[in-house]
Parts: sequence; structure tokens; C-alpha cells
Amino acid sequence: MYPSLEGKVIVITGGATGLGKAMAERFGAEKAKVVINYFNEEQELQGIIETIENAGGSASAIQGDVTKEEDIKRMIAHAINTFGSLDVMINNAGIENEVPSEELTLEDWNKVISTNLTGQFLGCREALDYMLENKIKGSIINMSSVHQEIPWPHFVHYAASKGGVKLMTETLALEFAPHGIRVNCIAPGAIDTPINAEKFSDPELKKGVLELIPMGYIGKPEEIAACAVWLASTEASYVTGLTLYADGGMTQYPGFQAGKG
Ligand code: NAD
Repeated sequence: MYPSLEGKVIVITGGATGLGKAMAERFGAEKAKVVINYFNEEQELQGIIETIENAGGSASAIQGDVTKEEDIKRMIAHAINTFGSLDVMINNAGIENEVPSEELTLEDWNKVISTNLTGQFLGCREALDYMLENKIKGSIINMSSVHQEIPWPHFVHYAASKGGVKLMTETLALEFAPHGIRVNCIAPGAIDTPINAEKFSDPELKKGVLELIPMGYIGKPEEIAACAVWLASTEASYVTGLTLYADGGMTQYPGFQAGKG
């Protein structure tokens, strides 16, 4: 547990499902005040809010589309109006879809880039503006992916967006370090969330993914939430510009396992 998170105000985009939900519930367990941005999952919210409140945290939900500047501004304003501040911004919302690159439409390219990269930039910018203005030594966490490093055929828009998240995170870390604002990202490997539901329901596809994971299992959302609370806490007070890989070893060249290569 991280006592420094008690009472802190956290905004999480895409917070009603998967990693966002796990992070919301974990910050709730740390007795933080959590603003859950959701896209179109109203039915999930009551359960998440109850879990957070039963654990001693506070929660409030707000609908919003991260690709829309005015919606991001509304999310931050909601946090300030409801809980009085903004200490941690988690830019987590993201999408992916599989398309061979020669068939990828401009529309699909733009949709992924505007959600995964531009949406995260807008979240960073609005949070940084508020933190600077109010002299808050806050923390920003961007949700990247192992595909900020590992090329991914048929997902060129996704890989490009996550590569962009890496350098955006590092650049902002450098720019705002003198103000005590830390900017980091988490790069999950394959985690059991709705984004992978279809793939993991096919035993052959799941087996193919498992072969890429040296630790031999699909990660749990709670294992990513554990990274987020550490990064947000004062235990990580000297950490900025980091990509925290949580991938069961996927980025360690699994093809070389067992003496191969
Ligand atoms: P998920 O599909 O459960 O979560 C994505 C969330 O983003 C959903 O709640 C969705 O409603 C929201 N969202 C999508 N478009 C939005 C928009 N325009 N505005 C606001 N919200 C929007 O999947 P997840 O695995 O929890 O994904 C969360 C993040 O983690 C994503 O950025 C994803 O790229 C990243 N990630 C996931 C994995 C994995 O294996 N699950 C691995 C690496 C990175």
C-alpha cells in the first residue's frame, strides 16, 4: 500500500473496463479520489464506484471522448470541481484493429492515432497546464505498450501511436522536470482485458501469444494497476521519463530462450 496516495485526485481515461477499471479500483483501495472517464460503458460504473467506496476511496464518473479537446477539458474540470484538485493524470484510453497496412484507410489510421496519441497528448497538456498553474508536483502516466518497441505487422497505426507515446512521454518528462512534475509510461505486454477478448477466446491464437511470453502466462490487469500506483506514489519520487515494461519478459527476445540463437 502507498499511504502517499490517500486523498490524492486521480483522473483515468477509459476507466470503465480492462486496465482502466483495475487501476481505478486499485487507486480506490489506496483511498484516493478517482475520476473515471468512460466512453459508452455506463452499466459498468456502479460496480466500480461501489468497489472504490467500499475500500475507503471516493469515485465519480464522467462520460467523454479523449479525441475531443472540450471533453478532456471537461474531465479535468470535473475532477477539480468534485474533488478540489488534480494530482495524477492517467491517459489510458486506447483502441486497436487489425488491418494489413496496404489496405489501411486514412480513416482507420486517423482514428487510432487520434485516440491513442493525440488523446494522450491532450490529457497531458490539460493536466500539465493545471499542475503548473497551481504549483502541483503531480504525476502523469501514459499507457503505452510493448509495441512502442516491438514492430507489429497489421497494426502499423497502433505501433506508430505507441512509439509516439514513448517520445511524447520522454519529451514532457524533460520539459517539466524542473517543476517537479513527473511523466512516465507503462508498457504492458499481453494482458487479459476486453481489447484481447476475441483473440484469447481462440485457443490457437492464445497459444501463439503465450509462446511470446517467457513467464508463460497472460498478464492480469491488477499487475498493471500495481505499476501505476507505484509510479504515482512518492516511492517513485525520483522517477521520470521511464517506460515501465510489465510484459512477462516479452521484450527480452523470447526467440532466444533455452539456448536458441
Ligand atoms: P479496453 O478495451 O478494456 O480499454 C480501452 C478503454 O478505452 C475502454 O474503456 C474504451 O471505452 C476506452 N476508449 C476507447 N476510445 C475512447 C475514446 N475515444 N474516448 C474515451 N475512451 C475511449 O482495453 P485495455 O487493455 O484495458 O486497454 C487500455 C490501454 O492499455 C490501451 O491504451 C491499450 O492500448 C493499452 N494496452 C493494453 C494491452 C493489453 O494487452 N490489454 C497491452 C498493451 C497496451
